[in-house]
Amino acid sequence: MSYVDEVINQIKKENPSEPEFHQTVTEVLKSIEPAVLEKEEEYRRDALLERLTNPERQIKFRVPWVNDEGEVEVNTGYRVQFNSAIGPVKGGLRFHPSVNLGIIKFLGFEQIFKNSLTGLPIGGAKGGSNFDPKGKSDREVMTFCQNFMTELYKYINADRDVPAGDIGVGAREIGYLFGQYKKITGQFEGVLTGKGLTYGGSLARTEATGYGLLYFTDTLLKNEDISIKDKDIIVSGAGNVAIYAIEKAKQLGGNPITASDSTGWVYDPEGIDLKLLKEIKEVRRGRMYDYAAERPSAEYHEGKGVWTVDGDIALPCATQNEIDLNDAKALVDNDVIAVCEGANMPSTIDATNYFLDNDVLFGPAKAANAGGVAVSALEMTQNSERIHWTFEQVDDMLKNIMVNIFNNISNAADKYNKPKNFVVGANIHGFEQVADAMQSQGIV
Ligand code: GLU
Repeated sequence: MSYVDEVINQIKKENPSEPEFHQTVTEVLKSIEPAVLEKEEEYRRDALLERLTNPERQIKFRVPWVNDEGEVEVNTGYRVQFNSAIGPVKGGLRFHPSVNLGIIKFLGFEQIFKNSLTGLPIGGAKGGSNFDPKGKSDREVMTFCQNFMTELYKYINADRDVPAGDIGVGAREIGYLFGQYKKITGQFEGVLTGKGLTYGGSLARTEATGYGLLYFTDTLLKNEDISIKDKDIIVSGAGNVAIYAIEKAKQLGGNPITASDSTGWVYDPEGIDLKLLKEIKEVRRGRMYDYAAERPSAEYHEGKGVWTVDGDIALPCATQNEIDLNDAKALVDNDVIAVCEGANMPSTIDATNYFLDNDVLFGPAKAANAGGVAVSALEMTQNSERIHWTFEQVDDMLKNIMVNIFNNISNAADKYNKPKNFVVGANIHGFEQVADAMQSQGIV
């Protein structure tokens, strides 16, 4: 059995009931196999892959809090500090009922390679809770965030671990978390990113993941002499990533025609009305049917089905495993040109392989959505220097980072004889930096 297969089997055996973690470990290790083979003796001797797939530290804690009715509720909090070889660990916090240890480990493992691809000095981590902010009052969200931070603060600081947002954690939650950290520690430091602009946040951080996704997609298409102009773009999701992907897609001349949330999706052939979508999602915290009710050109569909829409480019920006093999087949039947992932691991392994086998240009999440964490790292730099860059400065840096990511992963794919296989390119390029740093630092 190959070294890679041995480690995958061991991970599955030692971490039962963590299917999403098995999925990412399998996807990453299988695709880096050619690079591992070149140094197999050294890596086996130093148990490099075993160390890479086992988090440095995983913290699980209870979060008791009192709701508006005066009742005590108890949620579970997590922080997995996966790998600090190339810098202080960094990654978002997800508040969603589906969160469990396996989900956080999958996200933390992906984050190692994503952060490495940015070229910035940040290791990989992820955290969160099964708390559901949906339907909670502001006061309840604040109370929960304060109690969450009352435990988490022991394990984080600006040079050690810097959390940020993810699903269910936006500017409001980051504000409450930061306030509590400052109150407990007495330190005003860049311990979280995605902060508000009045207390250390970076311009363009809100837009970064969505804009970065489009800079990446545009670069990938240009490399094939294809223009994004007038292309119909199928977007899933209606959160931070989707909204700013739609905004940048429109600025580049594309036509985003769908958006979705957990209850349904809209098809809007005239192009998504961004102002209305922002008002409903960012201000009213409403649902997609509210959008359809106010937009005559939009059709509302209950449940899933957004991938059956005929479009040129697909940008999954909702959540993991939202594109299965059947969805991939529907997209290929409709001659989709490119699929670039805004969410983390939105395509199953079967769906990814189907895209690659059918020559769809496929931008994997850890490359395509790295713009968010990249600007988070720029926020850390600004905090350390106690300065603020302009929107244009940050946006220019983001653009450069996304173009570099594309060039680096494309070169890595070529080097290992898998031209245009950006999955292999991203995993290998991300892995090489981390492996080198780990080997240089000894068995730790
Ligand atoms: N949650 C985002 C991601 O998946 C951003 C993390 C960060 O900014 O630290 O990359």
